[in-house]
Amino acid sequence: MTSDATWLLQNVVLVPMDGPDNAPLGHVRRGNMRIRGDRIVGIGDLEPRAGERTVDGKGNVALPGFVQGHVHCTQTLFRGLACDLPLLPWLQQRIWPLENAHDAASTRASAQLTFTELLAGGTTTVQTMESVRHTEVTCEEAIAAGITAIVGNCLMDETDGGVPAGLPTSAADNLARTEALWRQFHGRNGRLSIAVAPRFVLSCSDGLSRDAAALAKQCRLRVHTHAAEHPDEVKIVRTRCGRDYIEVLHDQGLLGENTSLAHCVHTSARERDLLRATKTAVLHCPSTNLKLGSGVAPIPAYLRLGLRIAIGADGAPCNDRLSMLTELRQAALLQCHAAGPGALRAEKALWLATRGGAIALGLDEEVGSLRPGLRADVALIAFDDPLLHVPTGQDPPSIAPALVYTADERHVRSVLCGGDFVKADHTMLRYDTKRVRDSAASVLPALLARAGLAR
Ligand SMILES: [Zn+2]
Repeated sequence: MTSDATWLLQNVVLVPMDGPDNAPLGHVRRGNMRIRGDRIVGIGDLEPRAGERTVDGKGNVALPGFVQGHVHCTQTLFRGLACDLPLLPWLQQRIWPLENAHDAASTRASAQLTFTELLAGGTTTVQTMESVRHTEVTCEEAIAAGITAIVGNCLMDETDGGVPAGLPTSAADNLARTEALWRQFHGRNGRLSIAVAPRFVLSCSDGLSRDAAALAKQCRLRVHTHAAEHPDEVKIVRTRCGRDYIEVLHDQGLLGENTSLAHCVHTSARERDLLRATKTAVLHCPSTNLKLGSGVAPIPAYLRLGLRIAIGADGAPCNDRLSMLTELRQAALLQCHAAGPGALRAEKALWLATRGGAIALGLDEEVGSLRPGLRADVALIAFDDPLLHVPTGQDPPSIAPALVYTADERHVRSVLCGGDFVKADHTMLRYDTKRVRDSAASVLPALLARAGLAR
């Protein structure tokens, strides 16, 4: 097959996610999708051309691949190793020692675990904050996975606050690492970009944060950081800096339309005004906010302000899944509790997981919806499963609730990433899942020993 050859995905229920605010799913209908190379070139009522390869997608709903705005590939290896702790002790007692113990091999194993899980669950775009070192390994693995990725080495130079010696490095070293990643990987394969990623206010000196903002502007890189996650953290920032969290980031020059902030659970009216005025995006991680006891982010209020919002699973040790379908259910249920049923409707939640996420990450012209010209990233959801007893294509209003409240990973039948099937009929093709699991198991004991956490 030449690179000009097209093929046709047939008989799917298309959910293009290209609609207006009151109907974000767009024109839901049964149809076909034409793909050439890594791009969608046609969608709708298309007839196969003479000699064109066809793939029957009967029984499936075709969604854009999910866009996860906030994960930590480097932490996936730590799944199950950091339970029953709130944010700061969770970092101090588990995550920082474990990250400090990473070597290149364990970082690679963690990245492979991550990309296997993400692709298997239909996530084809991800923004990840890595640890201080070995981020080049994650970049290599993102390229091998074929996933669209925004990757940043986390910046941290503060040595107090329970950080293990050796994890933070000097401000200059932090930024030199980001710059080296930018030179080596930014724009590689058209799918990988590098972000400037200060960890959070308490990890970074004021000078490092200001220099990070300057580097991002100079190299036109996105900024990815955490903000206002847990009440204890917010209190310490206020005491130490004399102002609220988002105000600190604003003063440091870190807010703006190329910036996205994970969490923003606890914000004042003044801080929300700053987010709106600077067009800063918010990355919502509902399972993590529950597991670390951080609270419930005011997502309906942010949407009323017009903020851009993406959803993410955050790190595996604070979730402990990397599943967008899980996050969708959590996001919607949490707002039923916090703001009342209907405060975050299923259609809107699904939009945040796809198109809204792409807009928040500045990738709307590449991913997040099914439109000609965009990357052929598609999750095929098995609506012929008895659990999803929506008559496929007959009842579009029921599709979003079925996806948000009912579906889980078992319903992700096939996944296209850049026009290639990375999962087909429930079988992973891009990764040998047994090899990925064995490789993680083989590096974990030594990592735990280096971290002083061997059991
Ligand atoms: Zn995080």
